[in-house]
Amino acid sequence: MSKKELMHNCEQNQYHDAEIRYEKINQEEWGWVLSQWQLADEIDIESGYQGEKSSQMCSHHLLIKYCPFCGEDLEEIEQSTW
Ligand SMILES: [Zn+2]
Repeated sequence: MSKKELMHNCEQNQYHDAEIRYEKINQEEWGWVLSQWQLADEIDIESGYQGEKSSQMCSHHLLIKYCPFCGEDLEEIEQSTW
């Protein structure tokens, strides 16, 4: 049985650059990750960012169990989709 990526589309999330996904976090484990993205600008490229200007650059990753915006138990979502 293979797992698949899920996404928690949260109405309480007011940040357009933040998303919550269920994804592979290492060789064996999957988990819910809060990611915040930002667009790379000149300063990022000058400071060594390997990518195009205006490409999405991940600035933060955080493992979570509950949605920090609405408080939903994300592990329940994972189980309910099986
Ligand atoms: Zn939520």
